Amino acid sequence: MTHTYQGKCHCGAIQFTFESEPITIAMRCNCSICRRKNAIMSRQYYTAEAFELRSGKDSLSVYRFAPEMVNHYFCKRCGIYPFHDGVENPGIYRVNLGCVDEIDTWSLPIKVFDGKDTWKYLK
Ligand SMILES: [Zn+2]
Repeated sequence: MTHTYQGKCHCGAIQFTFESEPITIAMRCNCSICRRKNAIMSRQYYTAEAFELRSGKDSLSVYRFAPEMVNHYFCKRCGIYPFHDGVENPGIYRVNLGCVDEIDTWSLPIKVFDGKDTWKYLK
């Protein structure tokens, strides 16, 4: 029983859809970049079968920092982070749930991922 979620950046240049089980939980991460973005993200990664970038490929830019494990995508125009994937697993995306209009990120229970130290969920 999957649902097609639609997401977009703030200016609308980047539009994407992904198929998912109903999203009832989310995650945050305390690593050096996530604490600055403060994004509420999907707990799941979505594969190429489930995820589709519908527009905005040319509007995407990518930021990487050592050890260069993650592609942190952002919109060149509005600066919003819509999703990221792994350098070694390209095309498998974790999504910024704040980009999905129908999801109220303030009402979801949120797990905190300790990306800073242990790479485990804290709570
Ligand atoms: Zn944008």
